[in-house]
Amino acid sequence: MPINIYRLSAFNLTISSAMPPLQSMSDIIKLLPDSIANQIAAGEVIQRPASVVKELLENSVDAGATNIQLIIKDSGKALIQTIDNGKGMGEADARMSLERHATSKISNADDLFKLNTMGFRGEALASIAAVAHMEMKTRSANRDVGTEILVEASQVKHQEICAMEIGTTISIKNLFFNVPARRKFLKSDAVEMRHIIDEFQRVALVNPEIEFKLFHNGQQLFHLLGSNMRQRIIGILGKGYNEKLVPVEEETDLVSITGFIGKPDAAKKSRGEQFLFVNGRYFKSPYFHSAVQKAYEGLIPQRHHPAYFIYFKVKPESIDINIHPTKTEIKFEDERSIYAILRSAIKRSLGQYHVAPTIDFNPETSFDILPPKRGQEVEKPGVHVNPEYNPFVDYSEAKQKWERGNAFQKPMTEGWEALYEGLEQDLQQAPAESPGLEMAFAGDDNTLVRQIGNRYILVQSAEGVFLIHQYRAHSRVLFESFEENVMAKDQPIQQLLFPVTLELSVQDAEILSSAVLSLCHIGFEIESFGTNAFIIRGVPAACMQINVEHTMAGFIDDLRDNKPTDEVKLQQAVIKSMAQQSAIRSGVELKAQEMLGLFQDLMRCKQPQFDLSGNKVFILMNSSTIDKLFGA
Ligand code: ADP
Ligand code: MG
Repeated sequence: MPINIYRLSAFNLTISSAMPPLQSMSDIIKLLPDSIANQIAAGEVIQRPASVVKELLENSVDAGATNIQLIIKDSGKALIQTIDNGKGMGEADARMSLERHATSKISNADDLFKLNTMGFRGEALASIAAVAHMEMKTRSANRDVGTEILVEASQVKHQEICAMEIGTTISIKNLFFNVPARRKFLKSDAVEMRHIIDEFQRVALVNPEIEFKLFHNGQQLFHLLGSNMRQRIIGILGKGYNEKLVPVEEETDLVSITGFIGKPDAAKKSRGEQFLFVNGRYFKSPYFHSAVQKAYEGLIPQRHHPAYFIYFKVKPESIDINIHPTKTEIKFEDERSIYAILRSAIKRSLGQYHVAPTIDFNPETSFDILPPKRGQEVEKPGVHVNPEYNPFVDYSEAKQKWERGNAFQKPMTEGWEALYEGLEQDLQQAPAESPGLEMAFAGDDNTLVRQIGNRYILVQSAEGVFLIHQYRAHSRVLFESFEENVMAKDQPIQQLLFPVTLELSVQDAEILSSAVLSLCHIGFEIESFGTNAFIIRGVPAACMQINVEHTMAGFIDDLRDNKPTDEVKLQQAVIKSMAQQSAIRSGVELKAQEMLGLFQDLMRCKQPQFDLSGNKVFILMNSSTIDKLFGA
């Protein structure tokens, strides 16, 4: 479709440029020259290198490209280049595409509300060209040669024919060279690159069938082959994610939902793996985020966030894509229903793929009533009897509940949410006291040790009775032992029977590789292994039975949250985080020998009273404190 210049006259009262005398009639009101108008528009559309990336990538997608490369130098400050094999442009269109309000994608105002394509204001290229040096090379299928155009601050400097394949290559250099305030306002290279990667990922995640590459300063950061949604997510987050993804699907008249969510144990303290899309467009929504978070309630620790990739499809008229191109908020007509549908769909997926066997069925509970699925007939309510039921068989309680749940299962549209009620409480209420309480006399001086509620250790010694917080105690012990390891020449290492391979996202791999040396100092045997992968063969001997994957995930979370600025701080942060991550948690049952060992290790510490955040590790009750308790 040829590009037409489309002025949004219903929205802008522009004075037609076919009336030049107007300008001379007035001394005060002047028409802004196009280059300045473009610069002003650019101020809204192009805020940082990442905004250029977004616009260029979306244009390549709209042009039907199946292969898109993004080449970045110095976080976009030196170069942003896209190379696509899309349909390209003829010579006239190439020139026209740089005009403001030039678009091939809208021809009347109605289109604005129906648009499924990405960009739709015809403003992006003109805006970018106003604040940078742009080189565009493009060739359409019906031409043997391409067109090359050089533009600087909206001025076409040069145009000629060039030899090239069908498609478009756009190079942006010296962004904001003529807007020094903007250039100064740019953040550090790392931050700007982070934004670029975010935009790249958002576009890649909605176009899994397109092959994408991203290079930064000559280094390939991503190579995503054209594939399906699951493979694309894994391509972005790292192969280790494959087992952690659970599909979500829901089809109603109002909305269709597809996508994937992370299993609860893959939830992280940091955000960054949460993606919502509607009709092929990324958006942010604290409201829907809370719907997801609600569905995970009780399944993940506080302040942790599950990964999710949720793709909504709705009727285009039912959302208001805020016409402002840089806004990522979108208004939905029927937000509340979509919230309920989303939360339910996620709960169901979690139930099916992760926690189903522990379901507690409570038929009394009320639930959200969902709109019927598309094409679904609503089943008549009726009594279902389980013909297999044998009253003489001794079903265990859990099994009975489970079977009851199945036998009385209601149509999916209404009942299933109730299946999960109660589960949350179950998970939150750690058993107050485990039946197999470990109580023993250990050591030669008849020391009594006992675990209380799987989280406190009671030790009776000659000094009195110690009440010890097991997690805090162990993190203190590990902390001091790691500190010692750093000083020592060779660290006591516990070799792993099965080395653990970690496949990480690009960002996480970066974080971990910055810490590898420090980790070796405290007794890890870890090395990088291919792109974004690490292999761990040994852990510090002091770490009892750690789950290496969980520990490393938590560790990376910690470092991401507060990135140390220098080597010394890094070493300190590694020691502290590792001690906290690999310490035995509250809720873990301990054997008498383990408790005694922990108690003795603690007593050897330089600072046994406090944990790494300054909390009390133990309470000692001797005869005088007991006297006080009795008011004696
Ligand atoms: P919009 O995308 O809103 O139409 P842009 O300023 O981003 O506005 O682009 C203007 C026009 O230039 C597009 O409508 C399209 O016709 C053309 N165009 C831009 N980039 C490409 C590309 N990579 N391949 C083919 N055509 C393109
Ligand atoms: Mg565009």
